[in-house]
Amino acid sequence: MTDSITIALSKGRILEETLPLLAEAGIELVDDVKKSRKLVFPTTDPSVRVLILRATDVPTYVQYGGADLGVTGKDVLMEHGGEGLYEPLDLNISRCRLMTAGKVGEQPPAGRIRVATKFVNIARRYYAAQGRQADIIKLYGAMELAPILNLADEIVDIVDTGNTLKANGLEARELIDDISTRLVVNRASMKMQHGKINPIIEMMAAAVERRRGSSE
Ligand code: AMP
Repeated sequence: MTDSITIALSKGRILEETLPLLAEAGIELVDDVKKSRKLVFPTTDPSVRVLILRATDVPTYVQYGGADLGVTGKDVLMEHGGEGLYEPLDLNISRCRLMTAGKVGEQPPAGRIRVATKFVNIARRYYAAQGRQADIIKLYGAMELAPILNLADEIVDIVDTGNTLKANGLEARELIDDISTRLVVNRASMKMQHGKINPIIEMMAAAVERRRGSSE
């Protein structure tokens, strides 16, 4: 089927907020994602299927055409670099901030700084743009432990309420960027499948606008 469409969604909190937006674009999963161990899901639109992936894999699948559309966080896209992707729509969900953080009351060192993060590319760019020398240490989770155990002077991490930082004796320092969930499209699919993809983007954009309108 040349006009069938594959949409890659990020599992977890983004998924829960994305499904209602997709439903407003006429695309609903046939199975209950929470009860199924499937990775590929048929939808109520026979020409659309959905993949449920780790957020960090979504840009890669879309970049290489494994999926035509994807939904993932701006943080993940910034870390990936966005190569081969269009980013036509801010879904305005799962909003949070990408920040630097360190021990409460402690100043960052004046010279070379050690930074622990899973966002190594973002961190490298951020400190370089500030003209600060930084050694970046890659972690896959529990970044908040790194300053406490003197593995790093600072971390770069996602902050929502700030409760996780606080519970670990840390405080936010600098804002790197405001983050929200984005719709991305494979560049080739955007050209080849325009007739199918454009209405999905437009219907999702309308759903996002309705939510904006009702929250004002
Ligand atoms: P909080 O304690 O509310 O500041 O939440 C911080 C933790 O929740 C971080 O360690 C993140 O991993 C996670 N988190 C919060 N919001 C998001 C989001 N929108 N996307 C991804 N992770 C998030």
